[in-house]
Amino acid sequence: MNKLDLYRDIVGNPIIDSLYQLAAPLKGINVVHVNSTKVGGGVAEILHKLIPLKEELGINTKWEVVTGEQEFYNCTKNFHNGLQGNVVSMNKKLLDIYEKTNEENADKLRNSLKDADVVFIHDPQPAMLLKYIPERKGKWIWRCHIDVSKPYRPLWNYIKNKVADYDASVFSLADYAQKLPHTQYLILPSIDPLSEKNIDLDIKEVKQTCISYGIDLSRPIMSQISRFDRFKDPIGVIKAYKIVKKFTPDLQLVLAGGGATDDPEGEAVLNEVREAAYGDSDIKILLLPADAHRTINAIQRGSDIILQKSVKEGFGLTVTEGMWKGKPMIGGDTGGIRLQVINHHTGYLVNTPEGAALRIRYLFNHKKRMLEIGKNAKEFVRENFLITRHLREYLTLMLAAIHYQDKDRIEL
Ligand code: UDP
Repeated sequence: MNKLDLYRDIVGNPIIDSLYQLAAPLKGINVVHVNSTKVGGGVAEILHKLIPLKEELGINTKWEVVTGEQEFYNCTKNFHNGLQGNVVSMNKKLLDIYEKTNEENADKLRNSLKDADVVFIHDPQPAMLLKYIPERKGKWIWRCHIDVSKPYRPLWNYIKNKVADYDASVFSLADYAQKLPHTQYLILPSIDPLSEKNIDLDIKEVKQTCISYGIDLSRPIMSQISRFDRFKDPIGVIKAYKIVKKFTPDLQLVLAGGGATDDPEGEAVLNEVREAAYGDSDIKILLLPADAHRTINAIQRGSDIILQKSVKEGFGLTVTEGMWKGKPMIGGDTGGIRLQVINHHTGYLVNTPEGAALRIRYLFNHKKRMLEIGKNAKEFVRENFLITRHLREYLTLMLAAIHYQDKDRIEL
């Protein structure tokens, strides 16, 4: 059985059948994805999932990685920060390293890329390959995963110049995009319902995991899973909890996150969180290893309400993951959370700890509503944010790209 067919039980036969149909005219084409790492980070994770599914659909899909000396990575890290708005150094030496490394990689990858029907170049690291492979035959698409809504201008002008010749570009959210002379597409992120973090768990496993962290499933539980980062507002979550606790004395709060100890800023936030929670044994602060996917899954499933009270958020995959567990979401009114949390339907958007507390109290006082909203949240994710939707959009994008004509370009 194809892996794709395993999703039939989750999204239904028509969705999977339509993926096979959409892919039929793409059968046998050669597609290459290029990024700068096969491990770590969201880009690698999504490629690891999508590429085997494309292969199953008969699309020959290769994954190439650009490599370089440490200086190249320093330079592209710099680009990453600059595209997200920091003022960064753009001295000639750095730009020379970037260009030279792209040129060397172009020589290595030329055979693989020049005849491909569709080439996806992810993020700025390999963006200059196109310039060094002018004999390319297929369509080239720049897939930008970074928020370039407010880039450091001199750097954006430099990068824009490199990506303008692509046939199309793809951004994750409308707010992240910039003007370019070619067609732009939006592809929102997704989660994989068959991954360890999202797969259905036996209630026994949920219980065991919660007990092992001192969480009592017979009492009300709310949780937030996040890096210990000020933008995620864990202190605001504790404030909201403290307000609700006056009315719901047996309430428990789980704040789970990882990676704080190797990040000086994260460690400072963690200390503030510990201080704010001091003396209350019903607040569980859990430091989880990077691969604690099943633990996170179980904690979310054990919760009555899930929070993501961020004050700034790109998309908020934790929101999607939480909603997929059938729980109402209390989310900060910002960024991609707004696309997922629909007031009164999948949860509540909040701006303050008091606002969050009000909504949490409402839900605990209206258990039926709590369950309904949780159910809606899960259905909303099923319809909009699963990997099958992501795959469909890649397929339609490839179909569109193949038919794209140069005359479709616009003057900026
Ligand atoms: N995550 C995790 N362990 C943690 C904290 C977060 O595995 O301790 C995961 C979380 O489940 C989600 C991702 O990291 O898949 C975070 O993505 P999100 O978009 O929510 O926020 P970001 O951290 O990228 O700002």
